[in-house]
Amino acid sequence: MSAPNHIPYGRHAVSEADIQAVVNVLRSDFLTQGPAVPAFEEAVARYCHAQYGVAVNSATSALHIACLALGLGPGDWLWTSPITFVASANCGLYCGAQVDFVDIDPRTFNLCSIELEKKLEIAKQQGKLPKVVVPVHMCGQPCDMAAIHALSIKYGFKIIEDASHAIGAKYKGEPVGNCRYSDITVFSFHPVKIITTAEGGMAVTNDPELAHQMNLLRSHGITRDPQHMTHPADGPWYYQQIALGFNYRMTELQAALGLSQMTQLDTVVARRHQLVKQYANLLEGLPLDTPWQHLDSHSSFHLYVVQLQATCQRTHKEVFESLRAQQIGVNLHYIPVHTQPYYAKMGFKANDFEQSQQYYAKSISIPMYASFSDAQQVQVVNALRKAVST
Ligand SMILES: *Cc1c(COP(=O)(O)O)cnc(C)c1O
Repeated sequence: MSAPNHIPYGRHAVSEADIQAVVNVLRSDFLTQGPAVPAFEEAVARYCHAQYGVAVNSATSALHIACLALGLGPGDWLWTSPITFVASANCGLYCGAQVDFVDIDPRTFNLCSIELEKKLEIAKQQGKLPKVVVPVHMCGQPCDMAAIHALSIKYGFKIIEDASHAIGAKYKGEPVGNCRYSDITVFSFHPVKIITTAEGGMAVTNDPELAHQMNLLRSHGITRDPQHMTHPADGPWYYQQIALGFNYRMTELQAALGLSQMTQLDTVVARRHQLVKQYANLLEGLPLDTPWQHLDSHSSFHLYVVQLQATCQRTHKEVFESLRAQQIGVNLHYIPVHTQPYYAKMGFKANDFEQSQQYYAKSISIPMYASFSDAQQVQVVNALRKAVST
């Protein structure tokens, strides 16, 4: 449990309306496999201008079934960014594929499209082109999707956008999730993310076949649709298992919470933008770089990452320890995935991805969330001022 005056880096906001929506489900006929899940899928798909939504119990599950639907398997490669949560890479390993990484753009912290092109050219010569690339919209700032999409056509790979941070963000004026530049986009509804279902995730796509595959895979590979059966139904009880799926279903409770949270999404993102503006002013004069934004990006600002400048008299670790001691729940998103022991044993070295290493050496996620007050923000900045001064 955290101390009463502890400020976390992120936190959910649950309204009375959210609570009522969940209670209503508890009093209804369905706790799972009822009307709330399709209603939530419809709301998210409509919001982000996608044709289909497939709700599941986490973004990790969504990434897994997205990879399977795209046919990723043994002998294939999945590439992603080292600066992400491990799930963006693990989904490749779940499918028996191999994983490799593409270094980040130091300005956006996103997978760098120039590095991607260089690596694709080498992989092409070696006959090791990736089947799937997973760009991660780090902190809510969309990746350079037009460039990545152009490369996908040239080199023949599929794209899954890991938009776990980025529901409510826009790229070139259009909502992240419209899949204009990708096959599938995945969202997370973990409580620290932009909106929450406690645990939960969703894959959105415009491709009916991918939506169908993901629908099957989230629920044991079972269908009740005669159209998809190998022969006519034996009777009214009949269903068929036609693929090896999982139980990755979202509950009605979660979907009702998500549906209610969706009504707050734009307000939540607007508040985050306001806090970002205030941080930029409050942090002026401190030896820190504040987040740079590409002109094509309207970030959802899931995270606010500052980077220690070389002139700072304190080490990264000292600043971190000082802030934690002052009850500020700073964090580091992320430890480069390729340096995790599980990945290091595949042969990755820390300095394989130079920009990611530099990022790791100087970045700090400082608190930001919808219910974060202006007074708390000043408290964080004061603590930071103390932490960076000698
Ligand atoms: C949170 C997160 C995930 C995993 O989300 P879950 O819903 O917790 O499974 C995957 N990728 C990124 C970038 C994340 O931040």
